[in-house]
Amino acid sequence: MAEKVLVLAEVRDGELRNVSFETIAAGRKIAGDNEVVALLCGDQVSDFSERLIHHGADRVLLAEHSDLKNYTTDAYKQVILQVLDEESPDALLIPHTSPGKDVAPRIAAKLNSGMVSDAVDLEVAGDEVIFTRPIYSGKAFEKQSVTSGLLFATLRPNNIQPLEEDPSRSGETSQVSVELKDLRTVVKEVVKKTSGGVDLAEANVIIAGGRGVKSEEGFKPLYELADVLGGAVGASRGACDAEYCDYSLQIGQTGKVVTPDLYIAVGISGAIQHLAGMSNSKVIVAINKDAEAPIFDVADYSLTGDLFDIVPLLTEEFKKEMA
Ligand code: FAD
Repeated sequence: MAEKVLVLAEVRDGELRNVSFETIAAGRKIAGDNEVVALLCGDQVSDFSERLIHHGADRVLLAEHSDLKNYTTDAYKQVILQVLDEESPDALLIPHTSPGKDVAPRIAAKLNSGMVSDAVDLEVAGDEVIFTRPIYSGKAFEKQSVTSGLLFATLRPNNIQPLEEDPSRSGETSQVSVELKDLRTVVKEVVKKTSGGVDLAEANVIIAGGRGVKSEEGFKPLYELADVLGGAVGASRGACDAEYCDYSLQIGQTGKVVTPDLYIAVGISGAIQHLAGMSNSKVIVAINKDAEAPIFDVADYSLTGDLFDIVPLLTEEFKKEMA
């Protein structure tokens, strides 16, 4: 068991991301009854510290600074390295999100440390922590353990069950004295390409459209279904290339990797590069008019037919269920 585990919590758009709780839960597995310390970087984020404690952190370190409001490599790297120096944890866990994927290898390089990237599970066997991570675009899984030095891993969102919130838990919160030096980049403004809604990486339900959706207009029924199910809309690269939707929605090998509870693939053929981003979803429903489409090979439920008939029907039925 590690004596002290440092986990990076994440705030985006003024909201504490669920992956923060998942990372704390992983930290708790490694620490057992020892200490789990959550580091939260941002600007005026102290309101979130109690929730981190309620989800299993023993201590919260707040690194607050106007230049930490939005993620930048330089600023976050400096703070994490400073905290590692001050706290000397045995283990460091970082969410495998866009900021986490960017900063973690830089920390590893700076510390000359190994790192397990994109773990989806972990188990503790005696003194050993064994991480499971997908390889070959999710077609196989490998087990990795860290044999010396800092136990350092990034964790894919939506895979590790957060601990149940316990409002009776108490813990200490303190401020990190942040002194940022020589920042090469400062975020002045964030211009969103997609309008609000549920974050794809953390969505429990994803309705993804492909080239079969045929137009930007054709995506409307998918948004309606997503609204009813409280989900997010994603896309294949085929749909993005055809300009039916923005590339920020792309799922796959060169897009986002997602693991929702429910993935509904609509008018997507199921190319290997698309499967790389979604084949580990818990339940996959495929809608395609071609009964031979490869997407059906990975689907738990296959609906053969015209998506423009099936999607509105599903929306109506779910509406009735949810009423
Ligand atoms: P198509 O293959 O054209 O499939 C459209 C499907 O819609 C068909 O199966 C058709 O039967 C069905 N359809 C049509 N009309 C209807 C209807 N009315 N009702 C029901 N079904 C209908 N792709 C990704 O998705 N993500 C990636 O990250 C990615 N990365 C790539 C990286 C590289 C290096 C390369 C070479 C390719 C990559 N691709 C990626 C592209 C990938 O190979 C496929 O070209 C792409 O996934 C196809 O998109 P699609 O399934 O939407 O389109």
